[in-house]
Amino acid sequence: MKKNCLCDLHLHTMYSPDSNAAMKDMCDAAINAGLKHIAFTDHIEIPAFIADGYDKSIAESFNEACELKKIYKDRLHIARGVEMGEPMHDLKTAEALLATYEFDYVLGSLHNLLGDVDFFYYDYSSVDINVLMKRFFNETLDMVRWGRFDTLAHLTYPFRYLPKTQTEVNYAPWMDIIDEIFRVMVEKNIALEINTSGFRHGSKTMPDAQLISRFKKLGGQRVTIGSDAHKVADVGKYVEDGIKAANASGFEYIAVFQNRKAKMLSIN
Ligand SMILES: [Zn+2]
Ligand SMILES: [Zn+2]
Repeated sequence: MKKNCLCDLHLHTMYSPDSNAAMKDMCDAAINAGLKHIAFTDHIEIPAFIADGYDKSIAESFNEACELKKIYKDRLHIARGVEMGEPMHDLKTAEALLATYEFDYVLGSLHNLLGDVDFFYYDYSSVDINVLMKRFFNETLDMVRWGRFDTLAHLTYPFRYLPKTQTEVNYAPWMDIIDEIFRVMVEKNIALEINTSGFRHGSKTMPDAQLISRFKKLGGQRVTIGSDAHKVADVGKYVEDGIKAANASGFEYIAVFQNRKAKMLSIN
């Protein structure tokens, strides 16, 4: 594997509510881990944009990322990004956000369904998981059809909270919707994120090899790698395993972004 393709395009800092990591410390950790490219992707939950103060935190995140991008320019490629949660729940706010900042990189995420709580909070013994996941994939499909982001983050996010009755998830009940998600992504050139935080909570990437291979089979060209680190010690964690997973599914390149444009880095 070439050292030049080591990257981490999903990092949270003190400008996300669930992190207190300093951006500069994350840059230094990235360099120490041998990374060449990173993206800061602090959280924005679109439906709570004003109520939870994301309007202020994203301004601070973006401004500091701009500064660090200049300071580190010879040592580390920094993308000024955002993890935009639930854009479809308030499209006007999502569009306004994209018009306000010159992001290098935008992740699209779905952490909760319309009018519902984060997947973290369900009592899974009392919900119909089939129905819930059908809603999840359908909302994801709507989001990629809108498509004003570069990469679909952690496609299998809810599965990390579902009861672990099996090691291999059976996606069959939702496979037609997942295939349509992938087809739309191919058409719109949206990248699929291989989120390596799955290795911290379990033993596989999000999504797992089954779905990465399926994306490839349906014509997927772009994959990205992200640790989803919320602390300095997790910067770049398992990114090599993520790149290996991409390669094992037939991908020969990893995408990184500047100015909302992809650059493809050769793995081997
Ligand atoms: Zn997320
Ligand atoms: Zn994240």
